[in-house]
Amino acid sequence: MYTRQDLEQSLRRIDGRGYKAYKDIRGAYQFERFSLHIDYVQGDPFAAPSKIRLRVPQAVAGIPKELYTDSVRCLAIEDYLARRVRSAIRSMVRGNRGTGKSGLVYIDAGGQEVLKRTAMVVCPQWVEARISVGLPAGGRRVLGREAAAMLCDELPSIVSAALVWDTIDPIDAHAFVDCIENQECIRASLHERALVAFVADGAILPRRSGASGLPLTRQEAVAFKAPEAFAVSFDLPNPLSDGATSISGMGIPEGVTLIVGGGYHGKSTLLQALEYGVYPHIPGDGREYVVTRNDAVKIRAEDGRRVENVDISAFISALPQGRDTRQFSSEDASGSTSQAANIVEALEAGARLLLLDEDTSATNFMVRDARMQALVHKEHEPITPFLDRVAEMHETLGISTILVMGGCGDYFDVTDAVIMMREYRPYDATSEARAVANAQPSQRTAEKPAPMGAITQRIPMAESFDPSRGRRDVKIDAKSRDLILFGREPIELRGVEQLLDTSQARATGYAIHRATEDFMTGKRTLREVLDALEHLLENQASLDILDPFRKDESHPGNFAMPRKYEIAAAINRLRTVQMRQKR
Ligand code: ADP
Ligand code: MG
Repeated sequence: MYTRQDLEQSLRRIDGRGYKAYKDIRGAYQFERFSLHIDYVQGDPFAAPSKIRLRVPQAVAGIPKELYTDSVRCLAIEDYLARRVRSAIRSMVRGNRGTGKSGLVYIDAGGQEVLKRTAMVVCPQWVEARISVGLPAGGRRVLGREAAAMLCDELPSIVSAALVWDTIDPIDAHAFVDCIENQECIRASLHERALVAFVADGAILPRRSGASGLPLTRQEAVAFKAPEAFAVSFDLPNPLSDGATSISGMGIPEGVTLIVGGGYHGKSTLLQALEYGVYPHIPGDGREYVVTRNDAVKIRAEDGRRVENVDISAFISALPQGRDTRQFSSEDASGSTSQAANIVEALEAGARLLLLDEDTSATNFMVRDARMQALVHKEHEPITPFLDRVAEMHETLGISTILVMGGCGDYFDVTDAVIMMREYRPYDATSEARAVANAQPSQRTAEKPAPMGAITQRIPMAESFDPSRGRRDVKIDAKSRDLILFGREPIELRGVEQLLDTSQARATGYAIHRATEDFMTGKRTLREVLDALEHLLENQASLDILDPFRKDESHPGNFAMPRKYEIAAAINRLRTVQMRQKR
């Protein structure tokens, strides 16, 4: 291994030369307290940044063992340290040092949610931060002195400030890890309590703006308080900051739950908190004790999406021109057909809780009222509205639904629980809604064709996934949270609301590739492929395996753990994909 002095020397030597000369500094360097691994050097100052790793032996880092001995705690401490590195970068890195990305130092630490990421590894031997840097250039020439300041001075101060236990507030670190562990403990016990979600008293659900993940200030926000009828409490493995060893709040039971209330009274905000409640949150988020079962999937209408061979006949039958909806394909699905496909695909992947909001649903998919039933006869209306399936789905398939509905009281007939939002506070309106339903019977007739039956499973065809582009056999990337490039094919993810960020989208793209190589035999169903993939990802210490080109221990790129539902969603939106139904 080279030394820090070697690196300084090399940088002096290539100073002023063409940018390609930076390729010479690839390699490993022993610094005083850590080793610097320069794994990939960018080709020019505007290209994707260079990839480096800072590996600090535990003899120096000294992270206490009890913080990483089991997988949940390890996930939490890794996330905590990545955030520390990010704030050290903010305060210690000069930033702009020339053209293009010169001077950039970046770590992929997350937003409000906590996910397993390749950005940080904590193991018994070392702590390793995976970082991207923009090597400094003036025009297209190497700025050696700037690079030396960055790599040889800034990086060591980041390590000292962020990754050495002596400089970390132990109470803060423990509180972070304990909080994540508490959330996962609640999530693990929802099932046995027959609950699908939990919202703690005191939770702050609204965000600062539609573009921000940060909580609305405590002065502006109305804190959550569970209605008596839904009050539950959970024992916690770690005490809260006030010393309490249990937490109380609202438990949403299995079955069909309606969230009603006037416009602007906080219905969608509650549902969104539940959507993201499938992931743990950082302390201080306000939703850190909003916990949803991890088999929850947000369903919405998504007209324009492609659909491949999905049996949507439970919701939609006999389309014009005799189109068969037991094997429905479309390059441009409508609002209602896309929403039906989204439901069937979620159930196919294993979802047991559906989250729907009237704001993002197709009206004709949700309900057909009495007058419309009278005007448009059933034989001319292919849609069996969700209203006529939702209770059956719970009774026969065990699928629960939480539905935001401010516009249609016909749902009172089919619901198990009603939560009323008023002035941002929840109330139990279950018996009131029942009384209204009895006093004013719905004029509509329930539409019930054949029973819904099991979901038709599909078998994905590996050869319909082509990750190649140009001369590359595998070229996959995510440009944003909304867009994966899989070979030459863009996969649009705007309608997949529970996907969090670019790194999770990128990991999804590579996970699909991995699945085609390892699990798609032409016999396995999509569900079996997803389960095998999930098993693989969850049982690896890290997501490094998703990088198909990885050599030795090099920086694998920025990946964050996707759920199988978002992987399924991405597969279902790949426009080349071919599936065969298993009958
Ligand atoms: P609805 O779906 O009932 O029409 P929203 O959930 O969209 O209403 O909320 C409307 C507005 O109120 C949003 O700007 C949201 O941020 C804000 N809001 C929601 N919940 C709260 C709360 N608990 N305290 C303060 N403001 C809130
Ligand atoms: Mg709304």
